[in-house]
Amino acid sequence: MPDAGYKNAFSESKASETARERAQKPPRKKAPPKLAVINQSGCTGCEACIVFCPVDCIEIVPGVDHTQMQQVVEVDLARCIGCALCAKNCPWDTIPMLPYEQAIKEAPQMTLISVCGQKTAKDVTSEAAA
Ligand code: SF4
Ligand code: SF4
Repeated sequence: MPDAGYKNAFSESKASETARERAQKPPRKKAPPKLAVINQSGCTGCEACIVFCPVDCIEIVPGVDHTQMQQVVEVDLARCIGCALCAKNCPWDTIPMLPYEQAIKEAPQMTLISVCGQKTAKDVTSEAAA
């Protein structure tokens, strides 16, 4: 898991637990034409999307300072089957469905903290400055 800058030991331990559990979930059979990406800047962490996901690939990302108060979610892009059920049911309209390649390319810019091992907006900025 990348360094997400957790300042709260409980949040960090929850994030590590999620990363470990993710590794136990079964892999997807084939890549879909589209993937769901969470724009974490607009995510309230309400968890409404999670219950709709048929493959349980939306992970909770604990908040950096306050585990539950600042939580958001993240789609595990390696497991998403592109069904769009989460996007249709997000009350805050913060889940774009993007063509596969575009999703892989643009997801880091929409990701503030990752528990799925993907790059974040901070990583993209650091790479651009290097
Ligand atoms: S339903 Fe939308 S706002 Fe709520 S946790 Fe999911 S992505 Fe975030
Ligand atoms: S598009 Fe479907 S499989 Fe992908 S995260 Fe949303 S609900 Fe889950």
